[in-house]
Amino acid sequence: MADQGTMDKLVSLCKRRGFIYPGSEIYGGLNGTWDYGPLGVELLRNIKEAWWHDNVTTRDDIVGVDAAILMNRMVWQASGHEEAFTDPLVDCKTCKARFRADQIAESQCPKKPSKKPGEHSECQLTEARKFNLMFKTFVGPVEENAAMVYLRPETAQGIFVNFKNVCDSTRIRIPFGIAQIGKSFRNEITPKQFIFRSREFEQMEIEYFCHPDSGMEWYQRWRDARFQWYKDLGIRSDRLRLREHGKEELSHYSRATSDVEYLFPWGWGELEGIAHRGDYDLRQHMKYSGKDLSYYDDETRQRFVPHVIEPSAGATRSLLAFLCEALCEDQAPNEKGELETRTVLRLHPRLAPVKAAVFPLVKKDGMPERAQAIYKALQKHFAVFYDEKGAVGRRYRRQDEAGTPFCITVDGQTAQDGTVTVRDRDSMKQERVGSDALLGYLLQRLRC
Ligand code: ATP
Repeated sequence: MADQGTMDKLVSLCKRRGFIYPGSEIYGGLNGTWDYGPLGVELLRNIKEAWWHDNVTTRDDIVGVDAAILMNRMVWQASGHEEAFTDPLVDCKTCKARFRADQIAESQCPKKPSKKPGEHSECQLTEARKFNLMFKTFVGPVEENAAMVYLRPETAQGIFVNFKNVCDSTRIRIPFGIAQIGKSFRNEITPKQFIFRSREFEQMEIEYFCHPDSGMEWYQRWRDARFQWYKDLGIRSDRLRLREHGKEELSHYSRATSDVEYLFPWGWGELEGIAHRGDYDLRQHMKYSGKDLSYYDDETRQRFVPHVIEPSAGATRSLLAFLCEALCEDQAPNEKGELETRTVLRLHPRLAPVKAAVFPLVKKDGMPERAQAIYKALQKHFAVFYDEKGAVGRRYRRQDEAGTPFCITVDGQTAQDGTVTVRDRDSMKQERVGSDALLGYLLQRLRC
């Protein structure tokens, strides 16, 4: 299953084309951190924008918040994170490497034992001990226990603590959801698989509050809707699955949980968890804060603590899935008509960092000026790229690697009849389109 070749190609393309760089690279990096370059930041924004559009903007029953990353320490005591957000950590006594006990097979150090005497010839692991994944820092100038706070390990708690504020400041009524996108931090023992498990990452989370009687129905609706979302954005169904947790896997408060999983080159991995959390979180915050977080329904004249369904997705982790899904190689003719291998990112048009590239065929005969005018006109509507350097075939290839769905070329015929060629990234077919009709044509094909 493990396909290191595909991952190596992807990591190298991401670096080479400006999607993702190792964090703090010129200083030797910082393990588990990644920086998003010019194309990566656009892709990540488009994923978040698609999620926000589909879950907030176009729904009447969901509103957004953007809570602080630093929160009162009591939040994490109430949520259970201070006590229980731990992974079991083991050390190899020989090579000192550290691992998550639940991620290694046969209680053996996974680093290759050496045949040389004294050099890691046998593996002895320490007993597993609990390691809390929350990063600590201090508020104010004095580094004392009372000033200690955590960087949030999830965005969800920022929603729960604002449940009452949102109810009081809007007219929204149950069932309704609160959505948030933002950074989360986890001091993962072994960050790995490129950006899949990072120490700093972004989440897209919804807490959907409903009457206790309709919890199971909303859980099923959310599970199906979230699964469909990835499919609609181009993930093939044989690489996507919904995995319902068995009873033994469920946390004590959860009534049901499903994971949306993607078949990464190394195997299945979670993209999103959808959990029916009952009234656990609101009750915990009622207990610790002493505030009443129950809800009064003035139509039914009923007071109750809502149940909550939580679809919790990783923005950066799904970016990796979209990239893995999009990366492919096919055969395309070069300038001499010979077939050569082409690398192409078949990203969904909604996600593509750049929607169209505009080229003059050559740098003369008024072509650059015409191409510039088209570029400037399109730029008002979506992300466009202008390029006049080098052979046009090479320019197409660069855009294929960036995932740009369309390339528009101004050529000799443009001066005569006003048409340009539009080349489709996936089929490589070209069509002539009138400059006047170009915007409408592209908008329709991009489904923006
Ligand atoms: P895992 O079992 O992979 O550690 P989790 O079950 O702890 O994940 P959740 O707490 O349910 O994850 O977080 C919700 C989502 O946040 C995950 O489905 C994933 O997409 C994302 N996520 C969690 N941890 C990380 C991480 N270290 N790096 C990138 N994304 C993450």
